Amino acid sequence: MAVLPIRALPDPVLRQKAKRVKTIDSSIQKLIADMIETMHAVPGRVGLAAPQVGVSLRVVVIGLPEEEDIVLINPEIVRRSGQRLVTEGCLSVPGYFGEIKRAEVVTAKGRDAKGKEIRIKADELLAQALEHEIDHLNGVLYIDHLEERDNLHQVEGGTTEL
Ligand code: ZN
Repeated sequence: MAVLPIRALPDPVLRQKAKRVKTIDSSIQKLIADMIETMHAVPGRVGLAAPQVGVSLRVVVIGLPEEEDIVLINPEIVRRSGQRLVTEGCLSVPGYFGEIKRAEVVTAKGRDAKGKEIRIKADELLAQALEHEIDHLNGVLYIDHLEERDNLHQVEGGTTEL
């Protein structure tokens, strides 16, 4: 396993639509292992999408404090409900955080690292992480959801990074 460098804006890989994974082979297993290690390398990181490590494939990992890591291959949001204001940051947009609107409850489906189909219904930070990471696979960053430029702030200290 290895800690991979994080791609930041204006790297074009962050704006590409990532490709679906066709076969979960050893190269995908290695990518997942490296992504999990990279996510946990710095405290406060709770999610990572493959384009953030320069790989334009539909793979995300989420690691919430005190929870088991989640791996999602070819994930999709199948349902969203409610709306709330959240504070969000992104490893690929270093030095900033912003306030945006996200769903209250999100249902996502995808495959786990073994290829088994999984479905996750989530609220709070996990719902936010699912929307944030799946956005990455479509070349979307949280700053695209800012309603006003004033809602983006420079970081002093730290924030949760996705
Ligand atoms: Zn991000």
